[in-house]
Amino acid sequence: MEIDRKLTTASNLVAAKDQELGFGNVFSDHMLVRDWADGEWGRAMITPREPIPVEPSALGIHYGQSVFEGLKAYRGSQDGVIRLFRPDRNAARLKASSERLCIPTLPAEEFLECIQQLVATDSTWVPKEREHALYVRPMVFASEGHLSVRPAQCYKLVITTAPVAPYFSSRSRALRLKAESRFTRAASGGTGSAKTSGNYAPTLWPMASAAAEGFDQILWLDAQEHTFAEEAGQMNIFFRIGDEVVTPELSGTILPGVTRESALKLLEDWGVNAGTRRISMEELARASEDGSLLEIFGAGTAAVIASVASISYLGKEISAAPPSSGSLAERLREELLGIQYGERQDPHNWTHVVG
Ligand SMILES: *Cc1c(COP(=O)(O)O)cnc(C)c1O
Repeated sequence: MEIDRKLTTASNLVAAKDQELGFGNVFSDHMLVRDWADGEWGRAMITPREPIPVEPSALGIHYGQSVFEGLKAYRGSQDGVIRLFRPDRNAARLKASSERLCIPTLPAEEFLECIQQLVATDSTWVPKEREHALYVRPMVFASEGHLSVRPAQCYKLVITTAPVAPYFSSRSRALRLKAESRFTRAASGGTGSAKTSGNYAPTLWPMASAAAEGFDQILWLDAQEHTFAEEAGQMNIFFRIGDEVVTPELSGTILPGVTRESALKLLEDWGVNAGTRRISMEELARASEDGSLLEIFGAGTAAVIASVASISYLGKEISAAPPSSGSLAERLREELLGIQYGERQDPHNWTHVVG
């Protein structure tokens, strides 16, 4: 696959070094754009990052026909080699999300090639500090202007990258979640398993009110009964109850996270009794009371593994046991980071070297 290139003559890299790195406040020099029209993808172009013209009636903005992805490029802490973590899983998920939203799919090899070349172009933007990374954000949206609610006839793929610091700045502090028993994120038959724009704006209001009450994140519950745990914000959620580790099963309302899938595999490798099923708030409340709720943690590309201290549910506090040194959350976090930063064996060939 050939990709056209027009490189910048005015890199922002030096200026960016003076800015304090957060999560998404700094962007790299280049982006990749590729249009779909007349039934096929056109040539991909890597160009200096700049605003893109948008048709004012673009169906993607009006009706939310758009999908996105999120992955990171990591610089090896010892060898300096840049690696992507399971980008083939992001390619597969983008395909599944696209199909759900009637968006033309992008062949996996082409997705991987676009990301490889874009990251290679801005390789100097991949941070050197461990736990920092170059976040890669591919998105496809309906660019055709029209008023009808129907699949568009033109689309645009845009891939941008951003050097990022760890998502939760206070890594040592475990999160406090609010189990949201009024608003829901995803209903059966809806789009919860697709990474599509429309799933996120409706979470802003509940998240803002949870934040105002002092919580770090929301624990989403099922839309039907408001009793089963689903996801923690933009992370999948895990519970260690007695001798088993469980995460909600992929029932259509859960986003199939790459970190979730990788954590389940590692736990299986380690001989931990790990599985997927429905987990009710009642079960969690009981486990918290009898002391068998040993750990709660979220999993996602941005935050890797984030420990959760407690969940507030209908005014009651569901707490995990006090943190211990042998926590699975910490072990998973170190294993994933070790593989991502090229420090540990990668027996499942999860990492793809860039360049
Ligand atoms: C992206 C996302 C996740 C995490 O997926 P990863 O592939 O692990 O980054 C979990 N839940 C939601 C709602 C998401 O959008």
